[in-house]
Amino acid sequence: MNTRKSIVLLGTVLLFMSCATNPFTGKQTLALVPNSQILPMAFQQYNQFLGENKVIKGTSDAQMITRVGQKIAKASERWLNANGYQGYLKDYKWEYNLVEDKNVNAWCMPGGKIVFYTGILPIAKNETGIAAVMGHEVAHALANHGQQRMSAGQIQQVAGAATAIAVSGKDQKTQQIVGTAFGLGSQFGVMLPFSRSHETEADRIGLQLMAIAGYNPDEAAELWKRMKANSGGQAPPEFMSTHPSSDTRIANLTAWAPAARAEAKKFGVTTFK
Ligand SMILES: [Zn+2]
Repeated sequence: MNTRKSIVLLGTVLLFMSCATNPFTGKQTLALVPNSQILPMAFQQYNQFLGENKVIKGTSDAQMITRVGQKIAKASERWLNANGYQGYLKDYKWEYNLVEDKNVNAWCMPGGKIVFYTGILPIAKNETGIAAVMGHEVAHALANHGQQRMSAGQIQQVAGAATAIAVSGKDQKTQQIVGTAFGLGSQFGVMLPFSRSHETEADRIGLQLMAIAGYNPDEAAELWKRMKANSGGQAPPEFMSTHPSSDTRIANLTAWAPAARAEAKKFGVTTFK
């Protein structure tokens, strides 16, 4: 890259950079590109993924994914509104899809674009187990973990890509850059791992969301016991590599369940499915 291009790019990055406090984590996060610009790129990636995979429609399982997703989305909105963050989700376009794939996995892209693989259904076991996974995945998106995992180089690329899209429409290379930034690795649809602290954060936030949505938070620990039993020592893909150990996770979720119930009570939710 020549110097002039670098300067233009740097200027672009600085233009887009601003700090914001994330309502879910209370941390200052770098909002490098506004949601209104970056989320449409995520939506494009999501649609491409759906186009290249077998989406299951109309079955009771597919309906369950949608039902749970809508409740978790609603819980997120209620929590945000109650805490003074009206409009935080204004650029979100929630969508929930079940995809035929034997991998034990699920993910949520920025902007509320969710995929569950059929391989996770037997371990989730029931609607409450689905809610525990859904809460966790949605929490990653709400806490902006995807952006935080990007390197400085990727931040520059995405800011540049956002400008390129604004100026000249989309192209293949831009899609690749954005895909990498959102964690869709070289194997399309396999999300890159989050850091251990992000996993723990998503567990805590997700537990509250599932409780506010009316699902029994005690079941999250049960889900992870099943994950542990199923994995034979190996964690499923989204939870790979830097995840907390299953035992730490189960202990945390068990310890946090009463606080999640207390949070749900603030929203008038006192009985749980
Ligand atoms: Zn996670």
